[in-house]
Amino acid sequence: MPVTFFDITRQNSQVKEELSGAISRVANSGRYILGENVAAFEKEAAAYCGTKFAVGVASGTDALHLALRAAGVSSGDEVVTSPFTFVATAEAIDYCGARPVFADIDPATFNLDPAEVKKKFSKKTKAILPVHLYGLACQMDELGKFGIPIIEDCAQAMGAELNGRQAGSFGAAGCFSFFPTKNLGCFGDGGLITTNDEKINNELRVLRNHGSRSAYHHDLIGYNSRLDELQAAILRVKLPHLNNYLAMRRNNAALYRDLLAKVAEVKLPFEPANRKHTYNQFTLLVKDREGLLAHLKSKGVAAMVYYPLSLHQQKAFAALGHKTGDFPRSEEAQAQVLSLPIFPELKEDEIKEVCAAIAEYYRR
Ligand SMILES: *Cc1c(COP(=O)(O)O)cnc(C)c1O
Repeated sequence: MPVTFFDITRQNSQVKEELSGAISRVANSGRYILGENVAAFEKEAAAYCGTKFAVGVASGTDALHLALRAAGVSSGDEVVTSPFTFVATAEAIDYCGARPVFADIDPATFNLDPAEVKKKFSKKTKAILPVHLYGLACQMDELGKFGIPIIEDCAQAMGAELNGRQAGSFGAAGCFSFFPTKNLGCFGDGGLITTNDEKINNELRVLRNHGSRSAYHHDLIGYNSRLDELQAAILRVKLPHLNNYLAMRRNNAALYRDLLAKVAEVKLPFEPANRKHTYNQFTLLVKDREGLLAHLKSKGVAAMVYYPLSLHQQKAFAALGHKTGDFPRSEEAQAQVLSLPIFPELKEDEIKEVCAAIAEYYRR
């Protein structure tokens, strides 16, 4: 049987009645923008993340962009971030007119290495933008010691913890995405920013709604970037189940660890003792990746490479003037990473099938 990489319909069918009820209530209400569902979801998401405020926006990318702007990042500033992430992380910095300054990763966790971050500070450094990649929290305690504002990219990490504290509650702001494949997904695009800072909270509410504090009075140039009522209503159905979804992801990870323990060519993901990994991705380091990928494909097993090219090597960032070799650990990771299916509703038999196919490849 083929094994798919991600199938959201399994999750949706378990809460089918609640979802249809929520969707039709919004449809019948006639209120689609900034209504009671967005307001209620913001409260519920803030409570989940352990922050005072949360602000719904149109996507995770917008969450990053607006959070950077609300934190005062603007033209001529520098923001230190990882080259080993989804492009949106660095795009958001560029949208503010600022420069993404990359720092290499810790090869064990794939996250920003605080020692590398420190080397990149200049007079222009305005913020640090760490990414909790694959759902594992960064060393926020170390990064916090630099005394520079931190905007967290939590797009893959809703529910991740460091020392019992939630991702998105450490920095000046935490940025979440509800793209369907994330830990908490909606039926399209959606995003959220968490913060404990009242000023940032107020600024975000103005920025997301055309710079408006009262109707048709515009204090600054803002954006049309609101989470809509329909998505908020769907997210309110799913949020109470998030911890269960994460437990299922962690169970799947534990089974992978058991079944792959004896495959010497495969390095399993590292979960430091003080952290709760949410396994938005279960990412291996493997030998002969392209051969393994072809073999898995021939067996009908889906796998993905997140990410095949570091941001400093992308054409889009050519103006930054980087060259191959500038971030060797990120480049080494891009050549060896392989993500396996890990979504909550993946079945035990499917995980066994994936592992059997991997073991078979290296036995040959
Ligand atoms: C998904 C993702 C984003 C962007 O979120 P969208 O909702 O797709 O805009 C940003 N950063 C990371 C690390 C992501 O995985």
